[in-house]
Amino acid sequence: MQTNDTAPSRTPAKKKERPQYTGGLIVKCRKCGLIRGFFTHKPIDHYHCFECGKYTPLPPELRAVEVRCECGKFFKYQTNITDPAFDATCVECGAPVAVGYNEKLGRYLTIMDDCSGAGHDMRP
Ligand SMILES: [Zn+2]
Ligand SMILES: [Zn+2]
Repeated sequence: MQTNDTAPSRTPAKKKERPQYTGGLIVKCRKCGLIRGFFTHKPIDHYHCFECGKYTPLPPELRAVEVRCECGKFFKYQTNITDPAFDATCVECGAPVAVGYNEKLGRYLTIMDDCSGAGHDMRP
């Protein structure tokens, strides 16, 4: 089992310390379900919803999200979301970007709609 983890420094946790995260995060509020994408330079282990003000702890493992927006920007996030798919938000232009979980790769990838309306229905 080989993982392609690009985390800069991953030190084994000796104590029962809560994991802390930096960089791009997409966090879903456990209270109201609001999804928010943001960047943090300060390590955080929890998230306060700006909508309802409730506290959401970040789990020991976050899933990776790759967001490729129509505006051409590409971002990597980590998320506490475990749904098969959800709408991320481009931090550059604010457009919603649909991502779906790819079990093979173990991360969320942007759902590309590149049929350009040709009428191919690819739904199962
Ligand atoms: Zn909330
Ligand atoms: Zn964008």
